[in-house]
Amino acid sequence: MNKPEILYLVVPCYNEEEVLDETTKRVCEKLNTLIASGKIDGKSRVLYVNDGSKDQTWMIINRLFQDNPLVCGINLSRNRGHQNAVLAGLMYAKEKADFAISMDADLQDDINAIDEMVDKYYAGNDVVYGVRSSRKKDTFFKKTTAEGFYKLMKWMGVDIVFNHADYRLMSRRVLEQLGEYKEVHLFLRGMIPLIGYPSDVVYYERNERFAGESKYPLKKMLAFAFDGISSFSIKPIRFIVWLGFIIFIISLIMLLYSVVQYLVGYTVPGWSSLIVSVWALGGLQLLAIGIIGEYIGKVYMETKGRPKYAIEKILEK
Ligand code: UDP
Ligand code: MG
Repeated sequence: MNKPEILYLVVPCYNEEEVLDETTKRVCEKLNTLIASGKIDGKSRVLYVNDGSKDQTWMIINRLFQDNPLVCGINLSRNRGHQNAVLAGLMYAKEKADFAISMDADLQDDINAIDEMVDKYYAGNDVVYGVRSSRKKDTFFKKTTAEGFYKLMKWMGVDIVFNHADYRLMSRRVLEQLGEYKEVHLFLRGMIPLIGYPSDVVYYERNERFAGESKYPLKKMLAFAFDGISSFSIKPIRFIVWLGFIIFIISLIMLLYSVVQYLVGYTVPGWSSLIVSVWALGGLQLLAIGIIGEYIGKVYMETKGRPKYAIEKILEK
């Protein structure tokens, strides 16, 4: 069996005072069993990232830190949103740990999946995605919007794992590579597959939030979805180019049609030239905007300065 390695559980917290005590109890139990069975090193920790909470969250994290040897925490200067909080935690963890798992504070992600994740990590996977096996406990609205979102992303050409949110295990080299991504608008579940490296999935049942309410109201969810698409895909621009092209083709058909109408004599004077110019100009304008957009899209992708590759393995003597 491998030498036990250090695991950091990264947990972003925004106004989570109601759940932290229970979460800590259950998560530490899990960590202790893993440590006792020799699967992970005794230096493993649960790392709370306080994302500018407005309630007692940070005070509670301080108390837990005092009372519990497995707990540590970092405090962000203000609320920066879930993705940034997770990244802050992961970037901190990569200095201390061999691998890290990110999960929500509300225990919606089943912590019993951690065992299997750790096993798959030791089996040679750098990333293990936690995937929801069903959404029985989600409301109809959440289920349809969420699954629709994954399908839309696929259609837009973004490589994401279906029904996987931010419950995942990452090895240190994945975290190091993630640190090379300079973009400001984070969409972690799209970035990790981009990094590559061997990966596997673990299925789990998603539970209900056991206390408190969702910190992701519809408005934040939509903003997040839009961020995901616009940060990873320039398909919407391509769509404009195609639309312009199609309308231009229609204008040619209209030209033919109006000439025929003119020859047959069904037209009011001036109609033919007007109708053709309306279609032709509309089409050409859209086409032109699309082409300009295409260049802006390129500039946009360049400014991200994303690393172009990650070396998976080096063979040398
Ligand atoms: N969260 C955060 N900053 C925010 C919003 C949420 O750190 O601005 C954390 C929150 O504390 C939780 C996780 O992100 O640990 C997921 O949030 P939530 O459970 O409310 O989302 P849902 O499960 O409803 O999608
Ligand atoms: Mg939740």
